[in-house]
Amino acid sequence: MAVDATQPYDDQNIFAKILRGEIPNQTVYQDDFALAFHDINPQAPTHVLVIPKGAYVSWDDFSAKASDAEIAGFVRAVGKVARDMGLVAPGYRLLANAGTDSHQEVPHLHVHLFAGKPLGPMLVR
Ligand code: 5GP
Repeated sequence: MAVDATQPYDDQNIFAKILRGEIPNQTVYQDDFALAFHDINPQAPTHVLVIPKGAYVSWDDFSAKASDAEIAGFVRAVGKVARDMGLVAPGYRLLANAGTDSHQEVPHLHVHLFAGKPLGPMLVR
């Protein structure tokens, strides 16, 4: 079910459980601000999710309430994951769904990182 991006943070969401180590994940990278792991249902040859360690429902919540250090740390982590995976030259796509129309399903901010083939147009009408 799509997430209402204005809802309060639910600490029982699946990514909160992954952050607490209650559910396993295939970690690609982590630091004080971010965790990156492979998507369980990949939509491209490389499909990694990068999530902030803090409790933020969506990009809207994060951009409004996170500290400058959290925002800088998260953005740098996304870039580092792409660089460390060798994706800069071939290219990659970042996507963050926020709210009902976007079809966000997990109510903890996540950036999708897609790569590994020509990705085609951004949206299919
Ligand atoms: P959204 O639609 O919210 O932007 O994307 C949620 C993503 O989380 C989907 O691509 C889905 O495959 C992924 N996902 C959902 N549950 C799990 C899980 O338990 N583990 C992992 N690694 N990915 C998950």
